[in-house]
Amino acid sequence: MNDIQKLHELILNSRRTVFFGGAGVSTESGIPDFRSTGGLYSLRYKYPPEQIISHSFYIDQPEEFFRFYRDKMLAPAAQPNPAHTKLAQMEKAGLLSAVITQNIDGLHQLAGSKNVLELHGSVHRNYCEACGKFYSLEDIMSMPLVPLCECGGRIKPDVVLYEEPLNQNTVQCAVRQIAEAQLLIIGGTSLAVYPAAGLINYFEGSDIVIINASPTSADRRASLLIAGRIGEVLGSIKI
Ligand code: NAD
Repeated sequence: MNDIQKLHELILNSRRTVFFGGAGVSTESGIPDFRSTGGLYSLRYKYPPEQIISHSFYIDQPEEFFRFYRDKMLAPAAQPNPAHTKLAQMEKAGLLSAVITQNIDGLHQLAGSKNVLELHGSVHRNYCEACGKFYSLEDIMSMPLVPLCECGGRIKPDVVLYEEPLNQNTVQCAVRQIAEAQLLIIGGTSLAVYPAAGLINYFEGSDIVIINASPTSADRRASLLIAGRIGEVLGSIKI
C-alpha cells in the first residue's frame, strides 16, 4: 500500500478527523509562507518580518507596517488549491470535523469549509480601533496606506500580531477538536510558531499524519509521514 492509500484508509477508518495547518497549505495558491526558501523570512527588508508584524511596530510605525502588510500579506486574487478543496469535500462528506489553521487568508472558507478555526485571525475582518466599525478586505484595499475609519480612528486587521494573545474562545474550540480527534492530519506548517504549534500536544487519539515539504518537530510522533506538496497529496485522495 502506498502512502496515499494509507492516508485514504486512515481517513475512512477514523471516527473523528481534524486538520491542523499553516502557511504551507497556501503556497500552492501562490501565497508565500514564512520559512521556506523564497518565503517571507528569506527576503530582505529594513526590519525583520517578525518585528514588522508585531503589535509594538504596528503602533509605532503604522506606515511601515501597512506597507509590508499590503505588499506581502494580502493576496486578494489567490484561489483555493486542491488541499483546500479536498478538506472542504471531506467535511461535506462527514469525514472531517474541523480545520484548524494558522493562516489568515480565508482560502479554506473560499473552498467551502464551514468549521474553520482561525488561530491567527483573518485579513477579511478589519475593525476601527475607535468605534469598532467593521470593514471588509475590499474596503481596506481601496483605502490609503494606513486605513482610517470615517470616524477618524485607525482600522486594524483582525490578525494576531506577535506580542498579541490568541482569541481564547478559538483556542478552546481548537483544543476540544484536537483532544476529541482520533486522527490528526498536520500539514504545511513548520510547527515553529507558539502557542499555536503547542495545541497539537492535546491530541490523545490514535494516529497523526504529517504532510509537509520539510521536517517538523512532530515527525517522530507521526504514524504516517508524507514529505511532499500538500495540494498534490490531498488532491490525489479519492473522496
Ligand atoms: P511557516 O512558514 O513557518 O512554515 C511553512 C511550512 O510549510 C514549512 O515547513 C514548509 O516546508 C511547508 N510547506 C511549504 N509549502 C508546502 C506545500 N506546498 N506542501 C507542504 N508543505 C509545505 O508557516 P506556519 O507554520 O504556518 O507559521 C508561520 C506563520 O505564518 C503563521 O502564524 C501564519 O499566520 C503565518 N502566515 C500565513 C500565511 C497565510 O495566511 N497564507 C502566509 C504566510 C505566513
